[in-house]
Amino acid sequence: LRIELQRVDRLNTVGGLAASIAHEIRNPLTVVKGFMQIIRKNGDKLSQQKIQEYLDMAITETNRAEKVIADFLSFANPSVENQRLINVSDLVSMACNIMYSYATLNDISINKTLDKGCYLFTDENKLTQVFVNIIKNSIEAMPNGGEIDVRVFKDKKHVIIEVEDYGIGMTKEEISRLGTPFYTLKSSGTGLGLMISYKYVQILGGKIKVESEKGKGTKFTVTFPIYHKPSEEMDIIGYISE
Ligand code: ADP
Ligand code: MG
Repeated sequence: LRIELQRVDRLNTVGGLAASIAHEIRNPLTVVKGFMQIIRKNGDKLSQQKIQEYLDMAITETNRAEKVIADFLSFANPSVENQRLINVSDLVSMACNIMYSYATLNDISINKTLDKGCYLFTDENKLTQVFVNIIKNSIEAMPNGGEIDVRVFKDKKHVIIEVEDYGIGMTKEEISRLGTPFYTLKSSGTGLGLMISYKYVQILGGKIKVESEKGKGTKFTVTFPIYHKPSEEMDIIGYISE
């Protein structure tokens, strides 16, 4: 019986892992497809430079998909090997750029308010995925289009990232189920995006708070303990950003 149980467990784990990979590869694919569609629809009106820009983003996303696969190959081992000093505003800005085509196709503009002096010692790929997932959900929560507010700021002890939409919102019951594997209210959803995001934020030492009102909108707040740069590093960063 014990052996049977172990086998079932392992099967479940493999199934869950496969589903997670599928979900995370799907995001970059959606983005690449979006840029392709924009180019096909408006290609004759777009400048050569704009087209180059879109192709670059598509290639970046293809690379990200490759990284996601690599990431998941080491998912069983939840240690974070690839941590380095990251400018959080740059990272969040990048996540917004990644979602640009998807937002545009859904008549949504993303407002960014970014404090440039927020740093974390963290895993760039994992953290980017977290905000891509959250922003993607915000876009999908506003079927009639509109605006999303993304803010990066800090207090004495934390770096704080907010993603606020003014879409369909959630009930208390719905909020309580967020992050549960396969919980989705979407016809084509997988219910894995937030499971992965919650897991990554936990691994990276942060917290997620959700405030939402049905019919009004939703605010995700992600908080990390601030990284205090040793003074040498401070000098290097000051030098690079000048
Ligand atoms: P999926 O997007 O594939 O459904 P997620 O794990 O990303 O899976 O999200 C799970 C569910 O949480 C969504 O189906 C949706 O019902 C709800 N949700 C997440 N973010 C928001 C949001 N910003 N506004 C309203 N509902 C949301
Ligand atoms: Mg999602």
